Amino acid sequence: MDEIEDVWAKIDRAAFLLESERVLLDHAHRRVLAETALAREDNPPFDQSAVDGYALSAIDETSFLCEEITAHAGDAPQAVLRSGMARRVLTGGVVPSGTQAIVMQEHCELRDGRVFLNQPCKQGSFLRHAGAIWKKQDVILEQNNQIDAAAIGLLAAAGVTAPSVRLQPRVVHWVTGNELYRGDGPLPAGAIRDSNGPLLRALLDAAGAQITQYSLRDDGAALTASVTQAQADILIISGGAGHSERDHARAALLGANFEILIDGVNSRPGKPLIFGQKGSALAFGLPGNPLSQWVCYHVFVKRALHRLLGLPVPELREARLGSALRDRGDGRKSWQPARLTCGLDGLMAHPLAWQHSGDLTQLPQTDALILAEGNAEWASGELVKILPISMIPSAR
Ligand code: AMP
Ligand code: MG
Repeated sequence: MDEIEDVWAKIDRAAFLLESERVLLDHAHRRVLAETALAREDNPPFDQSAVDGYALSAIDETSFLCEEITAHAGDAPQAVLRSGMARRVLTGGVVPSGTQAIVMQEHCELRDGRVFLNQPCKQGSFLRHAGAIWKKQDVILEQNNQIDAAAIGLLAAAGVTAPSVRLQPRVVHWVTGNELYRGDGPLPAGAIRDSNGPLLRALLDAAGAQITQYSLRDDGAALTASVTQAQADILIISGGAGHSERDHARAALLGANFEILIDGVNSRPGKPLIFGQKGSALAFGLPGNPLSQWVCYHVFVKRALHRLLGLPVPELREARLGSALRDRGDGRKSWQPARLTCGLDGLMAHPLAWQHSGDLTQLPQTDALILAEGNAEWASGELVKILPISMIPSAR
């Protein structure tokens, strides 16, 4: 049985970075930036008004003759503002050269063609200078970032209309088990509901993969035929990774000419994990228990996906236990779901209670997996290793 670190090393050796392609920004959500994005022009592109008000030609006067033109947002740049004059400008409008400050319309009055200030105005007030946020060719977003909604907004503002992104990993996922029911009705006798199918679909979707999913009964020949035909960067078989007469993942991978690199790992949950390779295609056989699936996805499959995509791989970190933790202390390394907080003592991991590897009730609150190794008991406050699942909260 291999150690968790051996599996990681084998994944790292077997997984190759995917090629890149250009996609329209509207299709770039969740894709990984393959090339550092640079600003196409200055931002703001011109001196811009931050408010509805008046451009002033001086700051040491209290009234100005108001010109008859207005600089609305979107209007072409207008003539120079002459000395002694003010000009109406609206938010986002091009500020004329010769402007010393902008006064908000709430802070002045327009009477008989003159603008009277109600309060003094500071040099440059409400004036957004061209290039103050970024200059043309500035780095906007480094490569190897996954593009989320915030990044989409940023790239759009920078004129990156077709970013270069990694190809989507093609993932084929087989959900296997005679007992699985995917219908809408009451459960047939002896059946359970399929949670791994929807769970992995959502996890893979969030990672930016292109997913094809099949549901199969425990039929070795059908699984082997399907796995043999699959065109994928990553193949995942859920269920059937064990050694019973109903477990067909191993035989299907061997039948499809995969080399099995890992067959069992010192990990609880996750012991029956299978990892294989055929050329650039990687394959995982995952134990069917839903919590095992979830753990194996985060500990192993996600690492492979991140290697293909050029994303940083999830790394172990340290945290203090928020409460005592018990484990069996039988030499098996265990993953314990935990909620993270960040206080004055740094990162704290609060173990969440779960009954067995079919129990998903704590997952919505889980931020990290504690790696429990060696001991049978840890006291509150002890340092432990964790694998973060979600973003780590920062100290405030
Ligand atoms: P297996 O790895 O196929 O031996 O399955 C181990 C346990 O996980 C069994 O109790 C299965 O019923 C359960 N299981 C397998 N696949 C799923 C699934 N897709 N959804 C929920 N439970 C499952
Ligand atoms: Mg099964």
